[in-house]
Amino acid sequence: MGRHSLRPLVVLGATGSIGGQTLEVADRLDFPVVAVAGRRASDELLAIASRYADAVVCVADPGDRREEFTSALGGRVRFGPASLIEAAATPDTTVVNGVVGAAGLRSSLAALGAGNRLALANKESLVAGGPLIEAALRNGGGELLPVDSEHSAIFQCLVGEPDASLARVILTASGGPFRGWNADDLADVTVEQALKHPTWAMGPRITIDSATLMNKAFEVIEAHYLFGISYDQIDVVVHPQSVVHSFVEFTDGVVTAEVGFPDMKKPIQYAITYPERFEAPHAPFSLAGHDLTFFEPDPDVFPCLRLGYEAGRIGGTATAVLNAADEIAVKAFLDGRIGFRDIAEVVEIALNRHNAITPRDIGDVEAADTDGRVHAQEAVNARR
Ligand code: MG
Repeated sequence: MGRHSLRPLVVLGATGSIGGQTLEVADRLDFPVVAVAGRRASDELLAIASRYADAVVCVADPGDRREEFTSALGGRVRFGPASLIEAAATPDTTVVNGVVGAAGLRSSLAALGAGNRLALANKESLVAGGPLIEAALRNGGGELLPVDSEHSAIFQCLVGEPDASLARVILTASGGPFRGWNADDLADVTVEQALKHPTWAMGPRITIDSATLMNKAFEVIEAHYLFGISYDQIDVVVHPQSVVHSFVEFTDGVVTAEVGFPDMKKPIQYAITYPERFEAPHAPFSLAGHDLTFFEPDPDVFPCLRLGYEAGRIGGTATAVLNAADEIAVKAFLDGRIGFRDIAEVVEIALNRHNAITPRDIGDVEAADTDGRVHAQEAVNARR
């Protein structure tokens, strides 16, 4: 199969970090880009639109720049949230979903419903809508490939292996800026300290989620849905160097791993070229001179990890609440309204107040999301 038989790309969240790196990979490998989408009518999106002169351009919320975008881009611009869903359903494409937030779920469902390949970077799709994504995969004939480095590692370790041979996955976590701290030290953490991530430069929410390990909790839930395994089969190990991107243990005790220096372009590239492999985006890998270390995560320092397992084991809409409550709690921390350790407490309160159900449709997920936000906001307000 030559590269021209590979599917053209729909890039959702084109102005974000994953979207930008996807376009870099696409340019280097000569992938056609048939649609790009951004949340706002930004200058960045306009610049991207001019680089891909044949691509449909979707703007979820054009604000007051609707006319300007229409006169610049003519008939290839589309407006409103529905335009992203339509783009995701473009037949015979690979849809890279780098949308940030709950809005990404609808696009994921549309991509799978149309039988497309979904290269998934939007966490909310599986964390909030896991049961719906499972159903869309079963019914739509689409294909789901992870973009997150840990899940890409596990996926790659599993290529060619029979399902029944998988015993356990071990997700690696950088441990964030508070690895090695004790729980008491965390009480006075400042926003600035929490925003300093040792390995990856990312947006504020995901950086805080990395500091609390809530991001890893989400990844545990994603692994459950992506690989069809129970929560007892998913472990987390702290690995500050982020060189081992995750491990897989097989039933015969053999453990494999995917290893390399952190670079999101690799998992993005694999998700769009699978099962093929093309040239690397960086210099050859060498481990000489690097020490790799691994630790158990301290449950007192990282209660969010425990909450992730708890919500995952409850299942259904509980993980949608986990995500929604965390978004409120993180915002309250960033706004200086609650302390760092309150994030987990606020999320736990919201989780305990929710009666989880198995979601039948996106309305059930959205109702759980609202429930999580309301209860988390009440818990934040009670703390002032
Ligand atoms: Mg990750």
